[in-house]
Parts: sequence; structure tokens; C-alpha cells
Amino acid sequence: MARFVYLDHQATTPLDPRVFEAMRPWLDGRRFGNPHSVGHRAGWRAAEAVEEARAEVARFLGARPGEIVFTSGATEANNLALFGASGEGAAVIVSAIEHPSVLDCLPALAQRGRLTQVVGVGPDGRVDPGRLEAALPDGPALVSVMSANNETGVVQPIDAIARGCRDRGARLHCDAAQSLSTRALDVAAAGIDLLSLSGHKLYGPMGIGALFVRESIALTPQLHGGGQQHGLRPGTLPVALCVGLGAACRIAGEERDEDAERLGGLRERLLRALRAAVPELRENGGAASCLAGCLNVTLPGVDAEALLLDLPELALSTGSACATGTAGPSHVLRAMGRSDEEAHASLRFGLGRQTSQSDIDFAAERIAARLGARR
Ligand code: PMP
Repeated sequence: MARFVYLDHQATTPLDPRVFEAMRPWLDGRRFGNPHSVGHRAGWRAAEAVEEARAEVARFLGARPGEIVFTSGATEANNLALFGASGEGAAVIVSAIEHPSVLDCLPALAQRGRLTQVVGVGPDGRVDPGRLEAALPDGPALVSVMSANNETGVVQPIDAIARGCRDRGARLHCDAAQSLSTRALDVAAAGIDLLSLSGHKLYGPMGIGALFVRESIALTPQLHGGGQQHGLRPGTLPVALCVGLGAACRIAGEERDEDAERLGGLRERLLRALRAAVPELRENGGAASCLAGCLNVTLPGVDAEALLLDLPELALSTGSACATGTAGPSHVLRAMGRSDEEAHASLRFGLGRQTSQSDIDFAAERIAARLGARR
């Protein structure tokens, strides 16, 4: 079979086989039960598995198990945070580079009479904590800033942002979907009030995520119909998916430093090879401030969409899979001051746990050959 190299780990990560093994008994019928059935052993066992997973997710974040609410993914967790934890009448302030599952909540919040505001980023793709603090109103506010961007990999100064929020009495929500596979984030140490994560960005299953909600915050449920998870997010919990998320968090906690170091080296190698082929290449974000596995570059004069169509042997992306169908230039690169043309000439490489040096060399060689053939 022809070689196919997957370099789109920001879109999704493959399920780690160890995670699958942990889930298997809950998928093949050996174990089953409704974790909310309180009257028999099958239910108790399922509940035990779910609570073990919840404790694993909590440990991964430096939180308490009671502060973890399982959701269907980060989209739901972000919505639950913005609608359920902003508090009556609070203003909602987010950065311009947030994922659509944060940004697209704003019109609906504004319709409910909320003050909403979007704060820009610098050409380096970072939120300036001082600028954000200056945008905070005097009254109650919820701020939402992601830990790292899903298109550029640029890591945000969350510690400084959290300090500013604390000083002004604002709550901070952090969408950490992209960063947790390669960077630790301790909610207590960082002073984060709410945090979203997603299983399928962590080598866990799709369809599961979680929202960390600090104990002192009263969350207003957004779904109605059952008492599960203390009524905060009702619905029967998918035991296999919860177990998978717990296993994914445990493995990431053990291996992410090593993964990050290896991926950082591969990222450098890829950048060097691409620069050799395209000397005018521009890096969006820099190694010092980016996720180890993410490289976003502008290849001036190149139509990135057309280039990808010419490279069926590579899985790459021109931006976020979540913006698919919107066709416009990346809102993230535009917020960084790039032109529409530059945005359309940009490519995202997402390296992951299984990416090898040979994969990187193959990708760089294929891209160089394609660009060479077009010149
Ligand atoms: N936030 C960020 C930063 C993401 O990258 C994604 C997935 N692209 C999401 C939220 C949505 O996550 P999910 O697919 O779990 O809904």
C-alpha cells in the first residue's frame, strides 16, 4: 500500500492501544451496567469504573474528583462553562483566537442581554495579559482564554492572565483541549476556575470530554431531565468512554514530558527542511512559544488548499477542522494581522506520539517535490 503519513494531530489523535485495552471489557459485553443503577451489582461496578476515571482526570489536572463534570467533548464543555458558569449578568470576555465553540457562544449570550467582548492578540498570536485586564469591566466577569491555539500551537500566558483575573475578581475559563497531551496544566497552581478538555485530542476516544469546575462555582445546568452528575450534566454516562478518558489522562500524565521533548526535535527538523525548500517561509508563532507538536507556516505565493489536494500521501491541514465549511481565511491568522492571502498560503503540521523522523523527512521531501514541480 502507498505510504500515508498522518500529520494532523491537532484535528484528532489516534486512539492509544492501551486506552482501547482499558475500554475493551466495557465494549465487548464482558462488563456492562448503567452507572446510575443503584440497586444492583452491575450498576455499582459501572459506577465504580466511572468514578475511578473521574479521579484519574482530576489527578491529571490537580483537581478534586467532585470538580470534574463529564461531557461529550470540549465543544460541550466550553458551552457549559460560558452559559452555565458566567453567573447572572456577568460580562463575558474572550480572546479573538478562541475555538468556534467559545466564540460562537457570544452572539447567543449577547442576545440574553450579556455584555460580551473580544480581545485581540499580537502578531505573535499571544493574548497580552495587560490588555485583557484593561478590558475587564468593574462588575462580575467571566474570561475565556485557551491554553494553546489549535491552528498555530501558540501557548498563551495563562498564569499571568489568571493573576489579572484574580486581582479584578473575574473568573477564568481555559479551553485546554490542545495542550494537555504535551504540556502539564495544574488548575490549582495556575488559578484557573474552569477548564475544558477533550478525549480525542489526548489519544483517548471521541465523544467524551470534561469540564473542571472549581468547587466554589455554582454551575447552572444546560440540560434538563435527570439527576446524573448531581444534575449538573444529566444523561447516562458512557462507561467505556469515561474509562478511556481516564486511561488517556493517566498515560499522558506519565509520558507527556518525554513526548514533548521528542516532538520538539522533530518540529525543528521539519522546519529546517521546509525552510531549505522555501527560504521565504514564515513561521506563525515560534518554537519557544508553541506546542511541541504543532508547526504553522506561511508559504508565500502558494495556494495551500491546492497544494494539499496534490499531496494525497499526507494528512495535513490548512486550518482548523472545526472551521470546515466556513471557507473564509483563518480567523486566528487574521487576528495575528496576516492578510487573507497569507492566511490562504498557510499550512498546519500536527505531529504526534507515533510520528517518526522518517515521517517528517518523507513529508518535507514530498512538499519540496510538489512545490518544485509547480515552479
Ligand atoms: N477547543 C479546541 C481548542 C479544539 O481544538 C477543539 C477541537 N478541534 C475543540 C475545542 C472541540 O473539541 P471537541 O471535538 O471535543 O468538541
